Amino acid sequence: QPTELTRIGLAGLAVMGQNLALNIADKGFPISVYNRTTSKVDETVERAKQEGNLPLYGFHDPKAFVESIQKPRVIIMLVKAGAPVDQTIKTLSVFLEKGDCIIDGGNEWYENTERREKEVAELGLLYLGMGVSGGEEGARRGPSMMPGGSFEAYKHIEDILLKVAAQVPDSGPCVTYIGKGGSGNFVKMIHNGIEYGDMQLIAEAYDVLKSVGKLSNEELHSAFSEWNKGELLSFLIEITADIFGIKDDKGDGYLVDKVLDKTGMKGTGKWTVQQAAELSVAAPTIEASLDARFLSGLKEERVEAAKIFKSGGLGDILTGEPVDKKKLVDDVRKALYAAKICSYAQGMNLIRAKSAEQGWDLKLGELARIWKGGCIIRAIFLDRIKQAYDRNPNLANLLVDPEFAKEIIDRQTSWRRVVCLAVNSGISIPGMSASLAYFDTYRRESLPANLVQAQRDYFGAHTYERIDIEGSYHTEWFKLA
Ligand code: NAP
Repeated sequence: QPTELTRIGLAGLAVMGQNLALNIADKGFPISVYNRTTSKVDETVERAKQEGNLPLYGFHDPKAFVESIQKPRVIIMLVKAGAPVDQTIKTLSVFLEKGDCIIDGGNEWYENTERREKEVAELGLLYLGMGVSGGEEGARRGPSMMPGGSFEAYKHIEDILLKVAAQVPDSGPCVTYIGKGGSGNFVKMIHNGIEYGDMQLIAEAYDVLKSVGKLSNEELHSAFSEWNKGELLSFLIEITADIFGIKDDKGDGYLVDKVLDKTGMKGTGKWTVQQAAELSVAAPTIEASLDARFLSGLKEERVEAAKIFKSGGLGDILTGEPVDKKKLVDDVRKALYAAKICSYAQGMNLIRAKSAEQGWDLKLGELARIWKGGCIIRAIFLDRIKQAYDRNPNLANLLVDPEFAKEIIDRQTSWRRVVCLAVNSGISIPGMSASLAYFDTYRRESLPANLVQAQRDYFGAHTYERIDIEGSYHTEWFKLA
């Protein structure tokens, strides 16, 4: 037991909570920890001992846990989102006092955070919804954290967060006060949506290189390792390179080839797509990556479909001309980079639209900065996004930042080649082609939307505007036909 009151408490000692608690203790802040199932408390205390006698103190009883923390108390919760958060608040709040702070570090729906902020305010408690990214390793060594809600609560814990967060040379700690209400959870949700997009784009690059380019796992490993030295340098490219190098420990060959092609999900990608629709913001790359997960889940149906089309003469891959591997690797790298710019543009536009709707006043460049370290989407590329918003905080779209525009122009021929090659080979690349369609739509002055509007007016008298004369018009088209 601690001889003095601890600086902070943490409730919920699964993967994230256990590691974040150890990280906080490691940075010299004495911490009290609690978990509903007490064996996890003992496990965490044991780890704290083994990892260097860290100042971490375990409690089986919620009252003793709360009372062990100095006032105003700050407690981070890292439990499953939804009802478990409400239950944990209920358990702890009976022992908390006016001015104490509760922080939810989970992937919570932002409106739940706003509801809870109001509920606990009636007890005089302060509340933060803080997205934490970086998985197990990030939580232990330095995550990216997105706290939103009570600024007063943020101030109580700022010194801890600044030290616990990932530290990026020249960019500082990967944490900042995001904004009011549920903005921290919302930003973390979009971060995850962007992560879905990145992972899908990488998977498509893999598919084209493997299925059309016939690259072996060794060749894929070297291609991705090489990519990780340049503009694509990022955590996800790095771990992808690693994956291609790992042999199966239960049989011959490589482990990646034994993993069932079904992708799981926990909901933040779906929420991102729902929000895109709510806000009328186009996010086709992120949407395509969510759909790809849904379709991956239909493994049994796909196996049956493959049989039907194979018996009809349509093989898995419609092989065309043999390809030049080196040139293909280069084209795919450029396509991946250009498609990624479009995906981030969509995510950033979603955040901006929500910020305007809610009056959150979110700073897009600052978000790019805190994602540079600790989190799953950390990448050198985020520096360029930060610079783009520094150049012009009101940038309409990342695509029209002069530097990104130039980068896309330089890569678009490769990008189109990869999309054509994949389409002609019967390899679906929904993310890369959705990004290309997004770019080709956004950059065009005129779209065929005139025809859609004419159709709407024809059958539904929805009216239309003209390009030459102001006003709203309706034509009885059927009379003229
Ligand atoms: P998790 O599997 O989401 O949740 C397990 C924790 O929730 C355990 O401490 C469990 O306590 C507690 N819990 C569940 N139901 C409860 C209830 N009714 N009352 C009280 N406690 C309850 O854990 P996690 O993976 O560490 O994630 C924690 C949060 O961080 C989640 O919101 C998650 O989405 C988010 N997150 C996770 C990751 C990741 O990589 N895992 C990354 C970023 C964010 P018991 O031990 O008693 O069951």
